[in-house]
Amino acid sequence: MSQTTLKKFKKGDLIFRAHDEGDCAYIIDSGRVQIFTESFGVEVAVSSLGPGEIFGEMAILDHSTRSASARALEDLQVSIVSRTQFQQRMDIADPIVRLLVSILLKRMRGNLGVSETPQLSEKHRLDAQESHNKVIDKIKFEAELFEALMDQSFLLYFQPIVKSADFKAVGFEALIRWQSESRGMVRPDLFMGVAEETSLIVPIGKWVFEKACESLRNFQTFLSSKIGHEKSNIFLAVNISGKQFSDINFFQMLETIPKKYGVKENDIKLEITEKILLEGNIFFYWIEKCRSMGFPVSLDDFGTGYSMLSYLSDFNVDTIKIDQSFVRKLEQEPKTRIIVQAIISIAKGLRVEVVAEGVETEKQAIILRELGCEYLQGYFFGKPISYQETLNYLEKNL
Ligand code: C2E
Ligand code: CA
Ligand code: CA
Repeated sequence: MSQTTLKKFKKGDLIFRAHDEGDCAYIIDSGRVQIFTESFGVEVAVSSLGPGEIFGEMAILDHSTRSASARALEDLQVSIVSRTQFQQRMDIADPIVRLLVSILLKRMRGNLGVSETPQLSEKHRLDAQESHNKVIDKIKFEAELFEALMDQSFLLYFQPIVKSADFKAVGFEALIRWQSESRGMVRPDLFMGVAEETSLIVPIGKWVFEKACESLRNFQTFLSSKIGHEKSNIFLAVNISGKQFSDINFFQMLETIPKKYGVKENDIKLEITEKILLEGNIFFYWIEKCRSMGFPVSLDDFGTGYSMLSYLSDFNVDTIKIDQSFVRKLEQEPKTRIIVQAIISIAKGLRVEVVAEGVETEKQAIILRELGCEYLQGYFFGKPISYQETLNYLEKNL
């Protein structure tokens, strides 16, 4: 990052003029500065600034020319802040913050009675318009997502997880859907990223967890009414995003909600993705805490991270879910088969259960069974289905 430099001006010196190119801003160390515009040759004072205040920042934020002039009212010392120093910060700022800054700048320039537009090329103008539209779309999308939460427009779908020995369901994974009036049924990859960037993931995750506990209770009650209590303990796997752990009410939620619905912690598997483990040691502690409360923990999308085997020695997890990218290649690539076999054998040695995800063909299911994978999940056994369809599924698969 470039250095801030000092500069001195004498009383009456002109620091810059309206319409000059601007490549730096100034922080006043001592003395005063007058900012003024000119109209038909008459100077109009806009403001008078003193120590600690900043001026000349507008031009470097939007690459425009100076919209007013600045003159030293007294002997003056300023620190010069380069464009790079601002630009580096703007580059890493949230796009919404950048948009708000640009809107504010336009308004301020409007108030000064100056046209804000630097001479942009047509391409530059179109690019700027496109990124403006994208940010606006994102803000609207966030607002819609928030409304969806308020209006309870989310649904939980359930996808069976079966035993490889007999292809019978032992549990389900709960998967969120957003039933939007304008967009139709929206899949989570399209909105959970936005929910994570904003903190909406926390209330959405809470809704999911509560709905999952309620549904599990109903599935178990349904099963025990049909086949007796001892066979009714199917489980539900619930996806938990990394951000949810840092919510101060997260563990209290884990404590209270299963009790509210009378379901056992042991029947609720918490699925976390490998990638959150990269974010730091605190997850070791959180995972242990979940397990000590009685929740089994699954490592989702196993094999898509960087050092998958080291996770298994560093973390105590109950299940790993082999990612679909491996399963997809099983039939064609002998190498993948060898890798999957090694993963299964290491997991078994560590007494970790293995689920293979994304099983779409019978052949894949048979290969996985032969490799010793005990649990399978994928379209071959069933796509995610609604609550009512899940009850029908349970009825048929008794
Ligand atoms: P995931 O946890 O890896 O969930 C499995 C995804 O694979 C689901 O997509 C499922 O529908 C899909 N899938 C299952 N079997 C097959 C198959 O045989 N072939 C193919 N091509 N796909 C299959 P879905 O429901 O769209 O969810 C996508 C991701 O969104 C999930 O990936 C999970 O990361 C996230 N997600 C879903 N629900 C929740 C939730 O309640 N909370 C959080 N934090 N994330 C969720
Ligand atoms: Ca999952
Ligand atoms: Ca997965």
